[in-house]
Amino acid sequence: PPETQIDVRAAAQEVLRRVFGYEQFRGDQAEIVTHVASGGDALVLMPTGGGKSLCYQIPSLVRSGVGVVVSPLIALMQDQVDALRALGVRAGFLNSTQGFAERRDTEQAFLAGELDLLYLAPERLKVESTVRLLDQGEVALFAIDEAHCVSQWGHDFRPDYLLLSELHKRWPDIPRIALTATATEATRAEIATRLDLADARHFVASFDRPNIQYRIVPKNNPRRQLLDLIRTEHDGDAGIVYCLSRSSVEDTAQFLVDNGIPAVPYHAGLDNRTRAANQSRFLREDGLVVVATIAFGMGIDKPDVRFVAHLDLPKSVEGYYQETGRAGRDGLPSTAWLAYGLQDVVQQRKLIDASEGDEAHRRRLGQHLNAMLALCETVECRRGQLLNYFGQSAPECGNCDTCLTPPETWDGTVAAQKLLSTIVRLDRERNQRFGAGQIIDILLGKRTDKVTQHRHDQLSTFGIGTELKDTEWRAVVRQLLAQGLLKVEGDYGTLHLTDTSPAVLARQREVMLRRDPERAARPTRTAST
Ligand code: ADP
Repeated sequence: PPETQIDVRAAAQEVLRRVFGYEQFRGDQAEIVTHVASGGDALVLMPTGGGKSLCYQIPSLVRSGVGVVVSPLIALMQDQVDALRALGVRAGFLNSTQGFAERRDTEQAFLAGELDLLYLAPERLKVESTVRLLDQGEVALFAIDEAHCVSQWGHDFRPDYLLLSELHKRWPDIPRIALTATATEATRAEIATRLDLADARHFVASFDRPNIQYRIVPKNNPRRQLLDLIRTEHDGDAGIVYCLSRSSVEDTAQFLVDNGIPAVPYHAGLDNRTRAANQSRFLREDGLVVVATIAFGMGIDKPDVRFVAHLDLPKSVEGYYQETGRAGRDGLPSTAWLAYGLQDVVQQRKLIDASEGDEAHRRRLGQHLNAMLALCETVECRRGQLLNYFGQSAPECGNCDTCLTPPETWDGTVAAQKLLSTIVRLDRERNQRFGAGQIIDILLGKRTDKVTQHRHDQLSTFGIGTELKDTEWRAVVRQLLAQGLLKVEGDYGTLHLTDTSPAVLARQREVMLRRDPERAARPTRTAST
């Protein structure tokens, strides 16, 4: 009935002010909080920094009993609980990092009704004693944070999340709220099915982050390019730099330090103390750059991160969105900058081919990569493409590289034909497959050792591509990959035709390509590959 809704809303407003010290709810928060506090189920999609935590914290305080929050972010539970306690909220957590005594104290507090919020690692639910514990206490609601982890085909699947389908079966009357900052429409549907939230109210906030400027540039000398970015636009700013491997994290951090930029590394190979120390320095100090693998950042709430830079290609658009989303949570202008090159595609492909799991799983990873490539090579608005991916439409952007300096396009049909026919010839006439480096050398008519050794200078396509430079050919290859007209496979990153490439060779299909900007930054050609 409406009267109770009004009461609930007033109670929520009161908690917002008294406990959290905020005057007003943001966006859909008021609706969500009222709905859940009144006993309804909810599925919430809200970008990073949107304020998801209050959506379950306030209903937990308004309802009687304890709000049980399932989260995969074990490393952050202590911080989250400390932050709540500082506000006077009675919070605790149960996870594998605890000693026996600490766990027992938390359990007793839960049973005695002396907790408002209890954070739980998902694998705890495997343990029968946890289930019994929840039965014996009074649960106000279940909050499922990072709900996309339940999606088997998403980019961050965690098997323990499948256990959460049991929550509703076992406790049908307790309201549930699932939250995520990243989900395509397909993932969202999967979350709803797996968590039995089909009848829940869905709250989908706009994923647009208007203060973030998206830029994707061709990679030539990534550390130099990064240094330029920091010196010219982000001197003295806090930022996150993502690299794929631990060693490149270390090297890049050292490179920045050597060049006078305060920077620390962060990856899973560092010991816990160093990791924790680097993280807390990043949170506390001004203008520190953290160079990290994607192990860093989940749940990090630093409002004034002015730039997020990727030196390697993210594995998926979801990952890219989530990582770049850590910039500019305070709403002030921020930069999301990515440098990517052909080698990234080869490397990612290699990782996918070597990954565990069945063929369908690898195919899905391939689709994630292809969507990321398409974003990199688009001539359209990046923001538009990004939001589109999440099933949303984009507002006027004007704040991404393709909007600010629209890329020139050119008819690359002939270039594509030259490249594809070189691959076809090698395959048909010689039964050979090569990577981009060799194919480009053939097109450029370079008599390298590897070319003469394989007698590739005898091919009819030898030297037919001198109108483009090496870097331009690399851009052609990248874009053909992004358009699905070419694929790369195996440990050596060999190039292969796809189902759609014959149409280009048969002149049935035009290929429009973008011209890489920043001609001045073009590196000089190296002797051979
Ligand atoms: P998310 O989990 O969606 O990334 P958080 O819940 O961590 O976001 O909230 C992001 C920041 O916004 C936090 O610092 C939080 O305190 C602040 N915040 C959330 N809701 C409000 C509000 N209604 N008014 C003011 N600040 C808010």
